[in-house]
Amino acid sequence: MSDPSRPRAPKIIAIANQKGGVGKTTTTINLGAALAEKGLKILVVDLDPQGNSSTGLGIEPDDRQYTTYELLLDDVALDDAILPTDQENLHLIPATVDLSSADIELVSNEKRSFLLHDALRQTEIDQFGFDYVLIDCPPSLNLLTVNAMVAAHSVLVPLQSEFFALEGLSQLMLTVREIRQSANPDLRIEGVLLTMYDARNNLSRQVEDDARDNLGDLVFSTVIPRNVRVSEAPSYAMSVLNYDSQSKGAAAYRELADELLRKDARLAA
Ligand code: ADP
Ligand code: MG
Repeated sequence: MSDPSRPRAPKIIAIANQKGGVGKTTTTINLGAALAEKGLKILVVDLDPQGNSSTGLGIEPDDRQYTTYELLLDDVALDDAILPTDQENLHLIPATVDLSSADIELVSNEKRSFLLHDALRQTEIDQFGFDYVLIDCPPSLNLLTVNAMVAAHSVLVPLQSEFFALEGLSQLMLTVREIRQSANPDLRIEGVLLTMYDARNNLSRQVEDDARDNLGDLVFSTVIPRNVRVSEAPSYAMSVLNYDSQSKGAAAYRELADELLRKDARLAA
């Protein structure tokens, strides 16, 4: 258990893949919930104009007064933008469709790639006592995703266990490499996470074999199964851990949280 009153710098993880529908938002919400369930203090940053993680965590559009748009483009204080959710230890900076224009509005801004970095990696955030910040990225390698990667310590890449899953991954890795060279030399790949895995399906197993052959240790041991409870949970504004605590989906995200914490404990040792 962490002591929420102790100031400390959180570890920041960008959840990214330029493909849509691969499980970025689902992983952000449920990994966040699984870590929060263990008593860690978590901040989810919704960086997708679709606002799916905001909706999935039960924050209605009317309640999104200060959003990631204001965080990037105006001088709104973190304190004003961070909202509590129904789950203890799980907090959110929401997004609305306003964010869709940010990409264009930022083009002429000299600090355009560093805005989220400057908002999140400042001493002020230490006072909140977050252990992890999870950034839910849009389905694109645009300036928003670049902001997430510049702000983050690592990138977690959900990979849908489907044909063509590995396509596009090299472009993502190239972007990570470019960001390392330009703005964030310490950026790591946290891991590649197989999602929507169906053990009865040959294709799923083949994608897993390909991923493990090509990427080795970068692939999380934990695999997230395709599970209908996972897809139902957001319409009840709940994580799958709260919606059906005994489901296979909930178990898988708890296992992922354990794997992540073990890795981080090893890195810190
Ligand atoms: P992204 O954020 O990458 O666009 P989402 O997390 O929104 O992807 O997932 C896309 C769709 O797949 C959603 O409808 C979601 O509910 C569903 N989904 C994601 N993970 C699972 C899973 N493990 N089992 C079943 N459905 C899933
Ligand atoms: Mg999403």
